[in-house]
Amino acid sequence: MAGQLEPIGDQLTDRRTRLEQALSVSPSDTHLSALLGQVDSALERMDKGTYGLCETCREPIEPDRLLADPLARYCLDDMTQDEQRALELARRIQGGLLPGPSLRVSDWEVPYHYEGAGPISGDC
Ligand SMILES: [Zn+2]
Repeated sequence: MAGQLEPIGDQLTDRRTRLEQALSVSPSDTHLSALLGQVDSALERMDKGTYGLCETCREPIEPDRLLADPLARYCLDDMTQDEQRALELARRIQGGLLPGPSLRVSDWEVPYHYEGAGPISGDC
């Protein structure tokens, strides 16, 4: 697991540096300072060895979710209702961007199957 977390740790450290730079320009931006707090908390969890574990059930958070959102603190089952609604909405928007399940152009018919690599994902 430690090897898998290394790129996420690098990403968080990089994100922290960029947030500090942004805060030096806009020190009163509460959204930026809240985000910096979340990044610091994730880095602390990494130091303590609890990063990637759901804070409710203590089971590992789905790896594809952590890659998509390195600040995730809960597994899919333990996300808040608001988070679950946002995820469902994003899934529907993503699905709405895809063509219908079969395409017909003159004598050609093109069926396809789409399966996301994660709950919300650009990969399939
Ligand atoms: Zn959980």
